[in-house]
Amino acid sequence: MHLHAVVARQDILEAMTGIALVIDRELRVVAGGWRNWRAFWRANGGVGPAPAMCGQDLTLGFSAGAVRSGFRAALTALAAGERGPLRLPFRCDAPGLQRDMLLSVTRCGTAHMLYHAMPLTEKPRPVPLTNTGSAPQCCAVCGRAAPGQPDPLDWTEPSVTTICLPTHEVCPRCTLLLMAQPA
Ligand SMILES: [Zn+2]
Repeated sequence: MHLHAVVARQDILEAMTGIALVIDRELRVVAGGWRNWRAFWRANGGVGPAPAMCGQDLTLGFSAGAVRSGFRAALTALAAGERGPLRLPFRCDAPGLQRDMLLSVTRCGTAHMLYHAMPLTEKPRPVPLTNTGSAPQCCAVCGRAAPGQPDPLDWTEPSVTTICLPTHEVCPRCTLLLMAQPA
């Protein structure tokens, strides 16, 4: 099925794994697989009904600063045909669950993009103990911990029991993946 057709087919969007959203050139959500969206919201500890996404700017839900501005630059360039599709592994933990996902954003014609976040692996994660104040800063996209402990030279996978501080940082590897690629 050609991607152009996906935009207009609610049944296909509902059948896709993970989160499938159609956004327009202004990054507004115009369609989506809402059954998975509601399940995802609950699995991540969401209380009450999942927020309605239609008509909203997609990036309003991203953390402000480097994360939101990085994604806005990448998605706007993709909409304009200035770069190729976006493929970005990212970490999206739920309470008690370590979840690795892959984001793929592809143009559908000239007016829309398919934003598709697919789960890759899920494994149980012990709920961390109380934050002692010494938690490392982590990349908001991939979850790697900033240089320090245990590796003073590079960003590292946080241990399963480490609490990562809520962060607005994007590590160099994720920054490179967000940057323009040949269209
Ligand atoms: Zn990262």
